[in-house]
Amino acid sequence: MKLTQKSTEVKAGALGLSRRQFLKNAGVTTGGIAAASMLGTGMVKKAEAATATASGPVEVKRTICSHCAVGCGVYAEVQNGVWTGQEPAFDHPFNGGGHCAKGAGLRYHTHSHKRVKYPMKLEGGKWKKLSWETAIAEIGDKMEEIRQTSGPDSVYFMGSAKFSNEAAYMYRKLAAMWGTNNVDHSARICHSTTVAGVANTWGYGAQTNSFNDIRNAKNIFLIGANPAEAHPVAMQHILTAKERGATITVADPRFSRTAAHADVHLPLRPGTDIPLVYGLMWHIFENGWEDKEFINARVWGVEKIREEAKRWTPEEVENVTGVSRDAVYAAAKHMAQHRPGTVIWCMGGTQHTVGNGNTRVYSILQLVLGNMGVQGGGTNIFRGHDNVQGATDMGLLFDNLPGYYGVATGAWQHWSRVWELPFEQVKGRFDQNQYLGRDPMTTPGMPCSRWHDGVLEDKTKLAQKDNLRLAFFWGQSVNTETRQMEVRDALDKLETVVVVDPYPTIAGVAHRRSDGVYLLPAATVFEGEGSVNNSGRSVQWRQQVVEPMFESKDDLEIMYRLAKHVGIADAWTKNIAVIDNKPSPDDIMREYARGMRSIGFTGWSPERVKAHTMNWGDFSRETLEAPGGINKGETYGLPWPCWGTPEQKHPGTQILYRTDRNVNQGGGNFRARFGVEYEGESILADNSASKDAEIQDGFPQFDDQLLKQLGWWDELTDEEKKLAEGRTWSTDLGGGIVRVALAHNMIPYGNAKARCRVWTFPDEIPTHREPLYTPRRDLIAKYPTHDDMQVHRLPTLFKSIQDKVISDNLDKKYPLAVTSGRLVEYEGGGEESRSNPWLAELQQEMFVEINPADATDRGIRNGDDVWLEGAEGGRILIKALVTPRVLPGQTWMPFHFAGVMHGEELQYPESDGVSTKPYVVGESANTALTYGYDPVTQMQETKASLCQIEKA
Ligand code: SF4
Repeated sequence: MKLTQKSTEVKAGALGLSRRQFLKNAGVTTGGIAAASMLGTGMVKKAEAATATASGPVEVKRTICSHCAVGCGVYAEVQNGVWTGQEPAFDHPFNGGGHCAKGAGLRYHTHSHKRVKYPMKLEGGKWKKLSWETAIAEIGDKMEEIRQTSGPDSVYFMGSAKFSNEAAYMYRKLAAMWGTNNVDHSARICHSTTVAGVANTWGYGAQTNSFNDIRNAKNIFLIGANPAEAHPVAMQHILTAKERGATITVADPRFSRTAAHADVHLPLRPGTDIPLVYGLMWHIFENGWEDKEFINARVWGVEKIREEAKRWTPEEVENVTGVSRDAVYAAAKHMAQHRPGTVIWCMGGTQHTVGNGNTRVYSILQLVLGNMGVQGGGTNIFRGHDNVQGATDMGLLFDNLPGYYGVATGAWQHWSRVWELPFEQVKGRFDQNQYLGRDPMTTPGMPCSRWHDGVLEDKTKLAQKDNLRLAFFWGQSVNTETRQMEVRDALDKLETVVVVDPYPTIAGVAHRRSDGVYLLPAATVFEGEGSVNNSGRSVQWRQQVVEPMFESKDDLEIMYRLAKHVGIADAWTKNIAVIDNKPSPDDIMREYARGMRSIGFTGWSPERVKAHTMNWGDFSRETLEAPGGINKGETYGLPWPCWGTPEQKHPGTQILYRTDRNVNQGGGNFRARFGVEYEGESILADNSASKDAEIQDGFPQFDDQLLKQLGWWDELTDEEKKLAEGRTWSTDLGGGIVRVALAHNMIPYGNAKARCRVWTFPDEIPTHREPLYTPRRDLIAKYPTHDDMQVHRLPTLFKSIQDKVISDNLDKKYPLAVTSGRLVEYEGGGEESRSNPWLAELQQEMFVEINPADATDRGIRNGDDVWLEGAEGGRILIKALVTPRVLPGQTWMPFHFAGVMHGEELQYPESDGVSTKPYVVGESANTALTYGYDPVTQMQETKASLCQIEKA
């Protein structure tokens, strides 16, 4: 059907329809209206729709919002097994009674009649109901057939940032037992460049401080982040800091709702973060504002940064970034005069072809200012989905095992020991051949950003036996990937597509198939229990609110049934109790906590984590610490690293790398992860270590040899010695090495300087390279992109695309820069939140923001239908929002929409007689977004492309 902008449910709002009319059209009850009307108050009292059908005593369950990684606590009210009401937890240490619209609408997420209600299969163009047994048997049989003919790597395991830690861990383990690294999740396309860039700078690839600690900052620099919309409760902490006198600088091409709170706004041209930050450092070095003492003791390689910063004079920065030299100077001065300061970034910084360089240059800025390892400082890197941090920690990645051990042989040997399986047995599940000189078991798999290239690419160019033939999309919307035309082609070509989700996420894209698609109804996170890690590394336990609705099943149960059918369930659950076909979350946590020594999960236990969740009010909102009660002295959520055993009661580490505390109280220093020297120069710390450490200087990571050299080996018990021989602190399953290091107040991972130079990356220091689709062809010669290269299994293009932009004059044909971002009402691919009428009524249209000058040039008025065409030809029919908050020559789109492609509305299946089509559908921004990947991580470029817009 041709989309007319007037004829369909999606167009009900049309930027003019009343909220009540929209709800009427959408078939929402008056209860929905009653609840929605309370969204603005920040408190939701009673949800009238459901109370009409439930009675009896109210049971209150504790759960965590599923819509972003702030991790707000929620009291869920349940009557007779029905979720009847909810309250933002007034005593929760993160949100203290606050919520945003998404948190207030959680209950509907579970109740929604838009859910997939039973297993379904597309056959002969019709959706057919299946039993769970039949669905699992058919899918499992297909997997086995593919394994026989193409090998295990032709099955793709797309996972979810919505998984609990336990489900994420077991999904990664499932892929391992199947014999592939073709497993990934949306962290690839949100913060993989953060993990790589930050971990390679100082040791761990995570947020260094906490949301609450932002209240202590004297200066806040946000770059590529818009928490006023993306992380509203985190914004409360930012505004508290502002009330206490903090200055705020926001670098964003767009005058966002966050920028409206800034003292200085730096409207940089998309893709020029590195020049902008070097421009800040130019002033810092010129004026002697750097923290020399900190740099001497704790930072390595800063001279190269100083040289590079010299090139970025105020004139050159203004020329390349478009930001005035006065504004850059003002921001630098704020940073110098208001310390400690924190840096906050999100996907505006990470989703670039230079993403790993961006995250490193932000980190280096903090090192130069001496803002690391202190309260009110650090890099506060806001994650998106509720458990994207945990799923990343659990190694739900194409290049990692749980705990960031990588996929080299040593990592597999470590995890085989944790699983108590012979290494040869685990190895035997993988394809034993080499492809393009690479071994499948130790080569990273296909990234989430490019699984479609794994389907479509000439297989002789792939470092695996065959193309992908079957793919699971388990809690992940495919409309979040750029190049949607290729995504659609790949969905057409796959032999079997398996969507496991409460909502039919694939339906908004895969509309040309008539066979071979399965929809398996997963329970929502509120219908099971388990733990989640917020962006600040704190773990929280979700109690089960209600039983799985309709015929949906818990993720762990679906995985177990599948594992059983393909014959790997016994190995997969060797030390984990299985009750009613469901592996025990408590046992799973005990297993991964034992194995994930590298990031200090060993202090966690289900009992400790639950004790925190059941006593939210015991923890201070200011410090996150419990001054009394059963968790006295502990930090909320035991933020990792949480060293030792649960019995040793390490409090967790709220602020990474702080030397003013003993390691046993959450102190630390930068990690000695990259050896002790480079080119003959020591990279260990100089006369600096965490408080009370017996060696107040740099030291390498602990292993059996270091203990012997220090004369501490005999402090191990005989049993510990047996397990520690030949091991490091991170592979010693007895834990003796860590125990002895802590007894001497020394951090097990060593004490090195943070490094500004990463000699293993394509760019040793952060280096500006123009976007592939740049509007500034005059800058390409000076700041060219990389040459094309093979990255793991896939060929990856850089220069050939940039060359084509020039040879085909694409920058002239598509003169507008285009970026994408997040709305407060929706989350991720948006299928769940657009299926929630309480949210859907708030934002009913897919749109593009365009400056009045560009709109006038094109005869476009606010609210007009427009065609936006991306530089690779993807065309989308959307609304124009004419606004000066984007500069002339720039445009911005939200990325949460799907269900319309090239102006055609797509078909959603009915489940139990009800259409699963979300209340709001629209064109995916990613249909117009183009090729471009970070060379280290395969992060996709969504923030610096080109387009043209015309009136429809
Ligand atoms: Fe809190 Fe984020 Fe949920 Fe909003 S979406 S209620 S900020 S966790």
